[in-house]
Amino acid sequence: MKPPKFAYLRAASLDEALDALQAPDAKLIAGGQSLVPMLNFRLLRPSVLVDVNRVPGLDAIEETPGGGLRIGALARHHKVEMSPLVRRRLPVLAHAVAHIGHLAIRNRGTLGGSLSHADPSAEHLLMAVLLDATLAIRSKAATRTAKAPAHIAGALSTTLAADEMLVGVEYPALADGTGWAFEEFARRSGDFAIAAVGVLLERSGGRVAKARLAVAGGANGPVRVPEAEAALNGSACDARALDAAAAAVGRCVEPNNDLHASPELRHRVLGTLLRRTCAAAWARCGTEAA
Ligand code: FAD
Repeated sequence: MKPPKFAYLRAASLDEALDALQAPDAKLIAGGQSLVPMLNFRLLRPSVLVDVNRVPGLDAIEETPGGGLRIGALARHHKVEMSPLVRRRLPVLAHAVAHIGHLAIRNRGTLGGSLSHADPSAEHLLMAVLLDATLAIRSKAATRTAKAPAHIAGALSTTLAADEMLVGVEYPALADGTGWAFEEFARRSGDFAIAAVGVLLERSGGRVAKARLAVAGGANGPVRVPEAEAALNGSACDARALDAAAAAVGRCVEPNNDLHASPELRHRVLGTLLRRTCAAAWARCGTEAA
């Protein structure tokens, strides 16, 4: 299929892009990796495509004063994956982003495009939930921020208004010595994940001092699972704690049901991924500077 007719504007600045978004049915195009297939399937009929690829200054990766990272919305997946700063400060993010599609897709797709498209199994969305990211959002009239869970309105749906653009994401610093892990299960390498789990563990003595856990595999996008985190907190991350955490994920996460996997399969896979990621994160606790 060919896309429907649309006007095209290449924005030279953020202001120009935000002005252009005032037009009815205007749509941003960043990497085009999700938008172009949707145009070709005629799922969208924008009046004008506002190309933001040449807007300067929106692809930077920089440290924030608190030791966290700020990443511009136009940062390509591959740039995030390869960034020495991301690998040092947020290794779990670099590791997760390497699972997005194939290299050709990671060379074009952007952080902002992924978080705005909001595929429920998108690695960036899971990381934003796990890492407690704050999204910076602009329109011609206003600037606002949103935490990742509040940004997600359901599968392929966000709280972004039609005239808003996601301009960047801020990730808080990890505590020194935080153990991390991310694993996903997909039918083939490069496919969207059927289920995925990200874990952060802080350790004190032989115990988990603070667990953060986010899972994808539910119909409406990634979620934290506080009951599973509670099962890990205070434990020695032993088999008993992992069984309790896996059981909590089973109770709290309503898995997606589609042609790729049944809810039962997703539950089983999530339990396995949870055990593996917790064990890997526990082994990394204290071994790497955050
Ligand atoms: P675009 O396609 O340009 O835009 C997507 C949507 O976001 C559009 O509605 C657009 O208007 C809007 N948008 C773009 N930028 C902004 C912004 N800054 N502010 C507000 N709205 C904006 N993704 C995964 O996460 N995991 C995968 O495993 C994966 N596999 C893929 C495999 C294939 C074969 C393909 C083609 C894609 C795959 N993707 C996967 C999708 C890929 O990650 C896309 O890059 C991403 O979903 C969209 O980013 P983009 O920059 O290409 O956005």
